[in-house]
Amino acid sequence: MAFRTRLQDRPLLLVYAWKATEPLLQLLRTPFERLGLERASRWVKPVEKPLKRLLFDCQMCGQCVLHYTGMTCPMTCPKQIRNGPCGGVQMDGKCEIDPTMDCVWLQALERLQRTPWTEEGLRLNPPVDWRLEDCASWVTLALGRDQIAIGTESEPRYASEVFD
Ligand code: SF4
Repeated sequence: MAFRTRLQDRPLLLVYAWKATEPLLQLLRTPFERLGLERASRWVKPVEKPLKRLLFDCQMCGQCVLHYTGMTCPMTCPKQIRNGPCGGVQMDGKCEIDPTMDCVWLQALERLQRTPWTEEGLRLNPPVDWRLEDCASWVTLALGRDQIAIGTESEPRYASEVFD
């Protein structure tokens, strides 16, 4: 979708939207705790799902890493890999699975350079926790249930920490 691509290619607007949304979600933590993950997700999903589908082609993995991937959803990669690009990216930057599409991870790393989080390109993202699939990531974030908040931060976060 041309609108989405244009927006993601100049991600600053999305960055500001995220920066405004995150503190708001933290404020909602207590009501979300009272409702519990499932019920809170049921309330939040009718807003989150269509909005993020429109803006990011969100696949509702329930553990959003957009702010580490240049506001590009890694779940739109046909392999759904959380750390990329894989070894199969073509010389022209196309995907080996679907040569009609640009490599999602090349796009992510390019767009990341236009955000305040450039150093996150070397970040090691944990594998997807499929138990959270179809949950509202706004709720999992606020509740500290997403993969970023559940303790994986104690693991190496950057490739340099593994290789040093
Ligand atoms: S919640 Fe998951 S699927 Fe949706 S935009 Fe974020 S990373 Fe992509």
